[in-house]
Amino acid sequence: MKHTAQSPIEWFAEAARWYVEAHQGCPCCGHQHCVFRSEWGPRIEYYCSLCDFSTCHDRQTGRCYAALGEENARSGDLFADPYLVDAMPAR
Ligand SMILES: [Zn+2]
Repeated sequence: MKHTAQSPIEWFAEAARWYVEAHQGCPCCGHQHCVFRSEWGPRIEYYCSLCDFSTCHDRQTGRCYAALGEENARSGDLFADPYLVDAMPAR
């Protein structure tokens, strides 16, 4: 699986696009009909039930958060990259 997104904001944009264009598709594992969209107040979240990928955007603070699924976390190097830590919600 080739990951095209680089930062949490891009993962969120990808998730939003895949959700519409790929019929609840997941930009992380590439499957379809597995992503759920939810809104928590100002936050919009996409979650993949297959690979545990999740990403959310807070419209109030403008912050984005993205976490790759377990499968990808083990092999990927995204988690070692500091930008994910920087992008974590304040609380
Ligand atoms: Zn997935």
